[in-house]
Amino acid sequence: MERGYPMSTKYVYLFSEGNGKMRELLGGKGANLAEMTNLGMPVPRGFTITTEACTRYYQDDHTIAADIESEINEYVQRLEDMTGKKFGDLSNPLLVSVRSGARASMPGMMDTILNLGLNDTVVEAFAKKTKNPRFAYDSYRRFIQMYSDVVMEVGKKYFEQLIDEMKDKRGVKLDTELTAKDLKELAEQFKAEYRSKLGEEFPQEPKLQMMGAIKAVFRSWDNPRAIYYRRMNDIPSDWGTAVNVQEMVFGNTGDTSGTGVAFTRNPATGEKKLFGEFLMNAQGEDVVAGVRTPQTIDQLAKVMPEVYKQFTDICAVLEYHYRDMQDMEFTIENKKLFMLQTRNGKRTAAAALKIACDLVDEGMITEKEAVCMIEPKSLDSLLHPQFDPEALKKAKPVGQGLAASPGAACGQIVFTAEDATDWAKNGHKVVLVRLETSPEDIEGMHFSQGILTVRGGMTSHAAVVARGMGTCCVSGCGAIKMNEAAKSFELSGKTYKEGDWISIDGTTGNIYGESIATAEATISGEFGRIMAWADRFRDLEVRTNADTPKDAHQAANFGAEGIGLCRTEHMFFDPDRIAAIREMIVSETVEQRERALKKLEPMQQGDFEAIYEAMKGRPVTIRLLDPPLHEFLPTAEEDIVALAKEMNISADHLRGIISGLHEFNPMMGHRGCRLDVTFPEIARMQTTAIIKAALAVRSRRPAWKIEPEIMIPLVGEARELAYVKAVIDSTARLIISEADSDMTYKVGTMIEIPRAALTADEIAKEAEFFSFGTNDLTQMTFGFSRDDAGKFLASYYDHKIYESDPFSKLDQIGVGRLVEMATNLGRKTRPDIHLGICGEQGGDPSTVEFCHKVGLNYVSCSPYRVPIARLAAAQASIKYPRTQK
Ligand code: PEP
Ligand code: MG
Repeated sequence: MERGYPMSTKYVYLFSEGNGKMRELLGGKGANLAEMTNLGMPVPRGFTITTEACTRYYQDDHTIAADIESEINEYVQRLEDMTGKKFGDLSNPLLVSVRSGARASMPGMMDTILNLGLNDTVVEAFAKKTKNPRFAYDSYRRFIQMYSDVVMEVGKKYFEQLIDEMKDKRGVKLDTELTAKDLKELAEQFKAEYRSKLGEEFPQEPKLQMMGAIKAVFRSWDNPRAIYYRRMNDIPSDWGTAVNVQEMVFGNTGDTSGTGVAFTRNPATGEKKLFGEFLMNAQGEDVVAGVRTPQTIDQLAKVMPEVYKQFTDICAVLEYHYRDMQDMEFTIENKKLFMLQTRNGKRTAAAALKIACDLVDEGMITEKEAVCMIEPKSLDSLLHPQFDPEALKKAKPVGQGLAASPGAACGQIVFTAEDATDWAKNGHKVVLVRLETSPEDIEGMHFSQGILTVRGGMTSHAAVVARGMGTCCVSGCGAIKMNEAAKSFELSGKTYKEGDWISIDGTTGNIYGESIATAEATISGEFGRIMAWADRFRDLEVRTNADTPKDAHQAANFGAEGIGLCRTEHMFFDPDRIAAIREMIVSETVEQRERALKKLEPMQQGDFEAIYEAMKGRPVTIRLLDPPLHEFLPTAEEDIVALAKEMNISADHLRGIISGLHEFNPMMGHRGCRLDVTFPEIARMQTTAIIKAALAVRSRRPAWKIEPEIMIPLVGEARELAYVKAVIDSTARLIISEADSDMTYKVGTMIEIPRAALTADEIAKEAEFFSFGTNDLTQMTFGFSRDDAGKFLASYYDHKIYESDPFSKLDQIGVGRLVEMATNLGRKTRPDIHLGICGEQGGDPSTVEFCHKVGLNYVSCSPYRVPIARLAAAQASIKYPRTQK
């Protein structure tokens, strides 16, 4: 035994020993090659080195342990026996490809090496055997180039320079115009380059080449682009990649050979028709490289009818077998077809919906399977405008920030919210670029196509508000050097001024210094069908976080079953209203505060009525005020002067109050229920507004069941909750009895302070419902500020300390444990307590699955994420059925 690994562990499997269900061990590609082999399809022979071998490579300090190496060698021998070919043999040499293949497909993220096994003598024999010296030397120079780049990390550019010099010398333009002699000379030059860069000869021994290549593939699991891809796609870093070693087949031996890729259905539209392309006399990368224009797959019927027929038959069998659209690679070597890969094809969201519905209609899959086939996050692209895919392909990003709110935006740069409003009213499309946004910016944000900020994380004001509005936002692009005074910024060495065009992609976080065309998203009929099926299967209710009637409407259209969080402070972002809430915050006496509250009360009542109307009798949870002071205190001079005038005090006096209210850590400051404990008149005013609004709508709409749910934020102690609840109860009861109504209401709390989670049994004595505020709960559990953590989290991802942003995707191990604990404690005290989540993570599919598993009743998320949460909730229920409903 070595490091606890039993010697009996099998690390290598022939394709004929595996099967399609073994993707955890063999990776997707390996499992599918095994499956196709078992189905009797023409697959070049080979073997797969398991993902466990990759894990061991990392545990054994980046080495392949002796036992694994000898097992690989044993399988090389078996491959030699099966093919009758031999590594290094001059009459019948074995050449192989070495390719990565993780459990989840990560296209283009890891490395591949082709033509391995060639060396100075084998290439000559190969040239003779194939009677095609040009092909042999071309394969050799490609191999040296790939090996140097991928295995030894020399870098492609030196070799490309040598090719360019050779073409210049010969006076030709294309690689294909170089002769066998030229290519042979190039191979020599490549080897010399290798020697000069690495101080050693290019390895001639095929087994040595192969071990180098296998190591390189294992190592590529951890290259920066693979790490980034994993983070974007929730792929754990401990999965590792498998490696497939496969006998080479050649599509570039002449006009009777070729290579291509095809999908069984159209991956862009979902149309049921073979879609793909091929090139005769070419190797895999030529099809993608775009040097020659490939032919469409149906033309193969004319070029090679028997092969075409065999291929289409295989496509039909594969699609039926996997019950999903397949993406396949094939090679034709001297009129003989070989299948190199099949996998469930990547597709657009629209295609995914159509394919799932068509497969149900064709009797291939069940409705449950259809629901599970759709990637919930992909629905985003159906709900927001998108870049025209062709235009996007041509564009190059100039920077990147956090993908804070999805969609695509293209417009002229403006630097203030007022300019955004003015320019937009004059018919311009604008992108608002700010250091950070504040409540004053809300109107300008509304008028912008998109928002780009230098500071702020996924739960910063800009991000939360933009998601709520469905406006594209890229936040926290620290690389921008802002000069607000000059109305310009610098990014990647270029200066951008007001009026310059810019495009931002809120789905990837990419920033483009140019205008890229966008198109409105369309929702086809299949979307509704899939959603209706999802709703039948899910256990979790899906509510929304909505602060305005407009958001509430939008969310209801997307299928929200209620409002899980209405942030009442957000109702005052409007420029006409912000003064009133500021007046309340800076009040020094009860009289001043009550005067301000009197102004707020009718506004609140009006808003609540409109929200109840928009939700048409669905439940609505309204949260008492929770304004972090730094987001609400006035900073602009003209705002301070205007407010002082309104309050009848001097501007200097007001400045003094504001600096007295300054907090070192406003996120942990005088906010939430702390405001109600110090100023109970705030809770009284808000309760009055809520209850009066509910009574008014009830009398207008007797058929609707309206039962206000009043939520108290930032509670950490049961007595604190009891105190505020008593204020709410005394106020509400009086109004209800004066109205002679039998209306009931509920009082609950946010669980967003670790102490509340730890004492949830006590808290539940007072609270009729809990809503987990996982923005604050994450901030306080980790002990880092939700507004500032973005600055250092990137280093944590780079070092693999964290794999994802805990403000976007719930940290199930730590914060999740608190959620689970509070769920159990709460139910112990109050078995029928209603439990949900309303932090930003509530719209993230893996968090939704977690909420289902711990037994919450609902998730609440921003309106544009409601369909995603509905689908994710259904998938969670299908995957982990609840025993009791
Ligand atoms: C939370 O903390 O998770 C929450 C929903 O409240 P807010 O984001 O308003 O602090
Ligand atoms: Mg909170």
